[in-house]
Amino acid sequence: MTRQTPGDELRAAATRLRTLANAAAHDGRHTWTTANTLGSKSPVVVDDEQTPSVLIESFASRLEDVNRYIAALDPKAGLLLADLLESVSCDADDSALDDPGSERHDACDKTVCAPSAALALARILNALETKEPTT
Ligand SMILES: [Zn+2]
Repeated sequence: MTRQTPGDELRAAATRLRTLANAAAHDGRHTWTTANTLGSKSPVVVDDEQTPSVLIESFASRLEDVNRYIAALDPKAGLLLADLLESVSCDADDSALDDPGSERHDACDKTVCAPSAALALARILNALETKEPTT
């Protein structure tokens, strides 16, 4: 089996994230926000405050930070992150990205090395298991 290049890992993660983000957006709604349900005033994340087709509910007001986090990483952010992963994979000046199994960026400081941070994110996304819905 041929080892993937870091560039391959980045492109695979970008494709996966783009697919997930597009699937999460209903009716072209790529932006989510926080709100409260009309009845119980429970904190929620919605794709449209007036007519939500996505409604993610927290069951305690102390979890509103979780909702803000989910809303911040909405499908629009996912699409932009996918673009970022792909753009890092295309750096012609970084030969390590085309070197199968390269570990060159593995030990880099992720706060100053974009390929290192992007690869760490890509590896999380590529390892993500999706579960089929249960009936
Ligand atoms: Zn690096």
